[in-house]
Amino acid sequence: MAHEVTFIPGDGTGPELAEATRRVLEATGVAFHWDVQQAGIDEYESSGDPFPPATLASLKRTSVGIKGPTTTPVGSGFRSVNVLLRKELDLYACVRPCKAYAGVRTRFPETDIVIIRENTEDLYAGIEFEQGTPENARVRELLEELGSHVREDSGISIKPISVFGSERIVEHAFAYAKRHGRRKVTAVHKANIMKFTDGLFLQVAREVATRHPEIEFEDRIVDNLTNQLVSRPEEYDVLVLPNLYGDIVSDLAAGMIGGLGFAGGANIGTHAAVFEATHGSAPKYKGLNRVNPTALMLSGVYLLEHLEETDAAHRLERAIAEVIRKGEKVTYDLKEDRNDPTAVGTSQFADAVIEEMGA
Ligand code: NAD
Repeated sequence: MAHEVTFIPGDGTGPELAEATRRVLEATGVAFHWDVQQAGIDEYESSGDPFPPATLASLKRTSVGIKGPTTTPVGSGFRSVNVLLRKELDLYACVRPCKAYAGVRTRFPETDIVIIRENTEDLYAGIEFEQGTPENARVRELLEELGSHVREDSGISIKPISVFGSERIVEHAFAYAKRHGRRKVTAVHKANIMKFTDGLFLQVAREVATRHPEIEFEDRIVDNLTNQLVSRPEEYDVLVLPNLYGDIVSDLAAGMIGGLGFAGGANIGTHAAVFEATHGSAPKYKGLNRVNPTALMLSGVYLLEHLEETDAAHRLERAIAEVIRKGEKVTYDLKEDRNDPTAVGTSQFADAVIEEMGA
């Protein structure tokens, strides 16, 4: 039976990347029924809503989607589609595998890690009190009463970390490790300084680890982890982190595998899972058939894994890796010289992957 999947092309270079990804997914032989839905700046300009109710309804119905990047205008306009998606579908886990493929220029060729970032809590919860406002004064008064002095000219952001939020993200990390044959989970924190937030995260992580004795568990303080990641990346496997550290370490890891062009990912929630590249809509290349589809295609690999189409997932990943290793039919960013005239376009990269799967 065909898998029904919500398909959101996005905007900027999103539609080209999404089309390339749709083609390689179909070439695996797995049957899909795509429910095409819109989101992003083009949709905002035509209907006045960047994230129409039909798109959300489709994701709630199918519970799985693949999405091209969407532009968020700076300063004005509308709220980020990605933030809305995360909130509406409670996409609490951001999963980003970071593997250095042969043929990609990187100083860290041994890197093969998976970052599991908590997506809903921490300093990103949006609990902020602007400097100079009456609300800020009330928070400072309360803090004074509780014995903590905060300078009058301060802005204040609150960092909530709960047992519930920590438990479900760490459980997710262990479930991921088991499902993907990974050997170790490392919990990352700053519990030595923030005892009641990161300390709680660590305590919960240790408790969860006792339920999964077959997977090795360790923890690292975040500053030490960043140091170790770039000196001994091969020692790390699955990392589970609260929101802020997860955000930062994700980009570090993407840099270690050759850049955002290779970082696919998934946002997994209680109601749905949405697969998408880490990079943005690269609007300057819109319609030029130029940009690298690897990150969204790899997100397609993770979609296949999620749908338990394991064999197809392996075949697609192998084909992508092989096209990159050969380095012939690849986009400009994968060439030694970015002006190399032998570079191919987004669509021809997809053709090469399809050809490789049939080889
Ligand atoms: P970007 O990721 O679009 O681009 C950063 C740089 O990387 C640019 O030089 C771009 O040309 C290059 N690049 C990006 N993807 C590439 C690819 N596949 N192949 C080759 N080169 C690639 O980041 P930005 O310019 O900061 O953001 C553009 C828009 O995308 C913004 O509106 C931002 O809000 C949005 N955005 C969306 C998502 C998402 O939908 N998940 C994520 C990040 C940013």
